Amino acid sequence: MSTLVYINSSNGIGKAALEVVSYAKKLGSDVTVVANGSADEAALAYLGEYGASKVMVDRSVEDPQQITRMVNAAAEATGANTVVFSHDLTAKAVAPRLSVKMKAGLVSGAVAVPEGDKVKVNVFSGKAFGHVKINTDKKIISLLPNSIQPEGGGSACSVEDFASNAGDAAIKVLETKKPEGEIPLPEAELVVSAGRGLKGPENWGMVEELASELGAATACSRPVADIGWRPHHEHVGQTGVAIRPNLYIAAGISGAIQHLAGVNGSKVIVVVNTDSEAPFFKAADYGIVGDAFEVIPRLTEAVKKFKSSN
Ligand SMILES: Cc1cc2nc3c(=O)[nH]c(=O)nc-3n(C[C@H](O)[C@H](O)[C@H](O)COP(=O)(O)OP(=O)(O)OC[C@H]3O[C@@H](n4cnc5c(N)ncnc54)[C@H](O)[C@@H]3O)c2cc1C
Repeated sequence: MSTLVYINSSNGIGKAALEVVSYAKKLGSDVTVVANGSADEAALAYLGEYGASKVMVDRSVEDPQQITRMVNAAAEATGANTVVFSHDLTAKAVAPRLSVKMKAGLVSGAVAVPEGDKVKVNVFSGKAFGHVKINTDKKIISLLPNSIQPEGGGSACSVEDFASNAGDAAIKVLETKKPEGEIPLPEAELVVSAGRGLKGPENWGMVEELASELGAATACSRPVADIGWRPHHEHVGQTGVAIRPNLYIAAGISGAIQHLAGVNGSKVIVVVNTDSEAPFFKAADYGIVGDAFEVIPRLTEAVKKFKSSN
């Protein structure tokens, strides 16, 4: 019995990959990683420090249908009865397909290491937790980013080419535009976010400055992305990215239920809003009733002062 972890290494080995390998290790059996993407051998071998005993890589694989066939072939080759994904866009496309192929029960969006045979997940848009039991022998779990801390301490593992014979790609990616120099939002531990209360895109400089001082990613509410003030990859919520950072600072965002659905897994929420009745205050750990145009620069100054005194 072993556990297989799927990793797309196209953008290197990020924190989400380390989390998912650490999670698989905690399931108690031997962990093999099957990867596609362009990361070099040293980067893939590094996964051994987090619990992988071997990485199998097929760099020819690209689209979700090929990835499904590759992971299925790797599960057959290793005899894995459990497959773990990070709960990202690829997992949403691949895990259900793989579930059919392997006749495996699938739990999407796990937030903790299973207790016995029960997997803890977010339900009702993050308002409650569910405990799900998988009845099939083969199991597939996708783990929400930032749900567990990666645990290193092991040593580099072997990396071998894997000819998965995954067939032709049904689609071809012609161009990929990667945001340069930004912290990937789903993996960010600190996020500074703003909404329509900021009045216009020209006012985002102060949000970016606070984020930069904190080493945080930037995010926004949906209307802000829809109007084109900010790029769509920053839109968080029910129809955008779901995040679980340690700190979420929300300025000029009302806290509509659809927004909360994507951020209420954050460990600490700080809300800045001129309206003391804004619904977001009910979900906040710290609330500042005030004008974002005054509060954000003061927060930035406070962070700078703190950093210079330490
Ligand atoms: C099917 C569906 C899916 C949706 N999915 C999402 C989603 O994924 N994510 C999402 O965000 N929304 C989503 N929405 C939209 C959601 O319902 C809200 O309309 C949206 O979140 C509101 O955005 P906002 O808070 O930026 O703007 P507003 O509702 O306009 O709120 C602006 C806030 O800023 C405050 N404010 C104004 N000036 C200042 C100031 N100077 N300083 C501080 N505060 C100030 C105001 O008091 C107000 O609370 C969805 C809606 C639907 C119907």
